[in-house]
Amino acid sequence: MAKEAEHMPVYEFECPKCSMNVTKLCRLGTDGSEIQCPLCHVFGLKRKLSRFASPGTGDV
Ligand SMILES: [Zn+2]
Repeated sequence: MAKEAEHMPVYEFECPKCSMNVTKLCRLGTDGSEIQCPLCHVFGLKRKLSRFASPGTGDV
C-alpha cells in the first residue's frame, strides 16, 4: 500500500508550548497528538488547518 503516501495531506500545527508553526505531511485524519515540535520536542501539537482537504468533503 505504498500509494497511500500520495494521498498524504499537508497539515499545519501549532505548538502549545512555544507557539511554533509546524507544517507537516501527515496521514489523513492526523490530529497532531503524535506530532512532535521540532523546537521544544513536545508532543501533541494543535492542528490548525489543512491545505488539502476542503470544507464539505466530509473530512472530520
Ligand atoms: Zn514547541
